[in-house]
Amino acid sequence: MRRVLLVASKTGYQVREFSAAAKAIGIKLVLATDRCHILEDPWRDDAAPIRFEDPAADIAAVHARGPFDGILAVGDGPAKIAAKAAEELGLKFHPPAAVEAACDKFLTRERFRAAGMKVPRYQLIEDPRLASELTYPLVLKPLHLSGSRGVIRVNTVSEFYAAFERIRKMTAGPILAEDFIPGKEFAIEGLVTDGQFRALAIFDKPDPLDGPFFEETIYVTPSREPQSTQQAILVAVGQAIAALGLRHGPIHAEARMNTQGVWMLEVAPRPIGGLCARVLKFNGGGLEGGGLEQLLLRHAASQDVSDSKLEAGGHGVMMIPIPGPGVYAGATGVREAQDVENIEDVVITAKEGQSLVPLPEGASYLGFIFARAQNAKNTEAALRRAYSFLLFSSYVELTVVR
Ligand code: ADP
Repeated sequence: MRRVLLVASKTGYQVREFSAAAKAIGIKLVLATDRCHILEDPWRDDAAPIRFEDPAADIAAVHARGPFDGILAVGDGPAKIAAKAAEELGLKFHPPAAVEAACDKFLTRERFRAAGMKVPRYQLIEDPRLASELTYPLVLKPLHLSGSRGVIRVNTVSEFYAAFERIRKMTAGPILAEDFIPGKEFAIEGLVTDGQFRALAIFDKPDPLDGPFFEETIYVTPSREPQSTQQAILVAVGQAIAALGLRHGPIHAEARMNTQGVWMLEVAPRPIGGLCARVLKFNGGGLEGGGLEQLLLRHAASQDVSDSKLEAGGHGVMMIPIPGPGVYAGATGVREAQDVENIEDVVITAKEGQSLVPLPEGASYLGFIFARAQNAKNTEAALRRAYSFLLFSSYVELTVVR
């Protein structure tokens, strides 16, 4: 039985999806995490504890659980650990320097510029007094967060100051300011094999993302853009992967497109997050309707997945945004949403009593709606219709002052 090491920072639903996928295709999955004490069965036996602050010292512990045929990671932090562990264990993965650059928004820009790619004007800001010398609109962002956390569009100097302070409260260190790039946005899920990029899906993001915050909502694939546009996007993603030096394993890229062409925002050295991967199903290459996790596990274990193809038809997911701060109290209309034609599932992940924090500080969604239809247009329509049935309630938390 082939053995794959999965590095994750928590045992959330993404890890459970990998666990189920591994079982389904007969791969032994070993989990490396910094929180082995909270693992549920069936992990207990096989969790290799890694203290994320001191990974080098713990790679020996992982060694002892080996040998492994491959390695995967979910999340940016875990991808950094996985890159180092892969080097030590002699497994194929993205190199540490490439992962480091991909997970740092400033380094990413530097690599893209050095490779001659299209980049907006950008600079690191340590002193906000520079604000009056800049040209607007701008996007301010912390260097190391993901999921659009702390990413804020500013149109004026006073907005700059307010956003700068807000990001400062979230993270220390310099803040990146770059020109706002207008245009349509796309997400690209892909796989790199010995430096060779292959796209698994291009997602259209049909809702405009113009700020001030950039909340993801609907992803639909296949893209409805003309072939020439899709080709241009894939060329740009390929350049970005080469510029960063990513070599082996999953990637999730974000790009914008306008009359000037394709602008790469980032290439994350990991698969799409959360439950979103459920939207992708593949046939061929040993996968009969298997999901992204199955494909990635087989790829990591050096099994040939080159014949796998995304299932026909339209596939889409809506990440249900958090409308405002509060304490989550429940949802109605879930049954009605589930009954909408072409809706595959509605998964509410928010838990009663959970405190809800919207962007830019927050980091999660209320849940996910999945749709599959004969084409992308009907898929998007189904998502919107299902969402229209959902009503969420929350209450405001009051602090009692004695
Ligand atoms: P994260 O890694 O947190 O997702 P990104 O740099 O990808 O950070 O930014 C998150 C989102 O913010 C992007 O998906 C995009 O919608 C928006 N965004 C980021 N930078 C720009 C920019 N320069 N111009 C326009 N939109 C941007």
